[in-house]
Amino acid sequence: MAENVRTLIIGSGPAGYTAAIYSSRASLSPVVYEGMEPGGQLTTTTIVENYPGFSEGVDANMLMDAMKKQAMRFGADIRRGRIKSIDLSSRPFLAVDDKGNEILASSVIVATGAIAKYLGLPSEQKFRGLGVSACATCDGFFYRKKTVAVVGGGDTACEEATYLANLCSKVYMIVRRDVLRASKAMQERVMNTPNIEILWGCNTQEILGDMNGVTGARLVANDGKVFDIMIDGFFLGIGHHPNSDLVKEWVNTDENGYIITDGTSSKTNVEGVFAAGDVQDPHYRQAITAAASGCRAALDVEKFLLENNE
Ligand code: NDP
Repeated sequence: MAENVRTLIIGSGPAGYTAAIYSSRASLSPVVYEGMEPGGQLTTTTIVENYPGFSEGVDANMLMDAMKKQAMRFGADIRRGRIKSIDLSSRPFLAVDDKGNEILASSVIVATGAIAKYLGLPSEQKFRGLGVSACATCDGFFYRKKTVAVVGGGDTACEEATYLANLCSKVYMIVRRDVLRASKAMQERVMNTPNIEILWGCNTQEILGDMNGVTGARLVANDGKVFDIMIDGFFLGIGHHPNSDLVKEWVNTDENGYIITDGTSSKTNVEGVFAAGDVQDPHYRQAITAAASGCRAALDVEKFLLENNE
């Protein structure tokens, strides 16, 4: 028999856990499915130095664990596993988890996050967290006065490169064509930053390193020439993939798959379905902004259930 749940939260990054804290304190008895990566994207980094309240920084896994415990203290039911399918065509919504359990949810918060795209090189995985990063704002600080490379030519790569150029002595941009995809304004910012050098028409063949981490990258130019650059850090800037596949049959998304929410609220086009965190945020993608949107989603759900006497 299906289990009745007032609020189902799908995802366990800062957005999901914050939604769980707020909704459990409001006695909504939320059930949270942690998904494939408990704690979310943040757990792929090491120290978080920009989350307010931690003057010395905080270990990412510890931060997420603390958020989880905080939610559990107020009664959130946090479960391992993922929601395999969900039918949002009518309320209550029928969700099925990966063990086949059925849940009938009066409201849903989608906080499934996004995933950075990687090139798919084995060496990229080997040095992940040891010089390979997909988040300049998270990890750039560790490369102060050092040399780094950013791969990609879109707005993300340009933003990462200009951010890193403020910290690092030199930033290479590895761009596979001879043009940038980024907006004109972003392109101008890159062009006007003297310590950014664009390596046009180049692809990364391998990331080089030793037991201490990244030391360089082997590039292949479009004319076939292979050459190495010496770097301390390698940043991916080739885009993100929002994890909206589960709901996109019903929930409106933009052309890149990000869930569209109504103004500053967390409401989607489906009544009773709310979205929070990176799955609906192509721009900021910070732990603190995700947490804030999780808070908004919980408050929106509370109001929604109250208005519907549920
Ligand atoms: P984009 O898809 O716009 O750009 C991806 C870039 O990475 C392209 O230059 C692409 O090259 C390159 N790339 C993709 N795959 C590979 C690969 N395997 N090897 C090498 N290079 C690769 O993604 P973004 O994340 O930059 O932007 C996504 C959306 O978010 C856009 O609409 C953007 O405008 C928006 N955005 C806006 C920001 C802002 O306004 N501040 C900040 C960040 C993003 P190619 O061009 O050859 O395809």
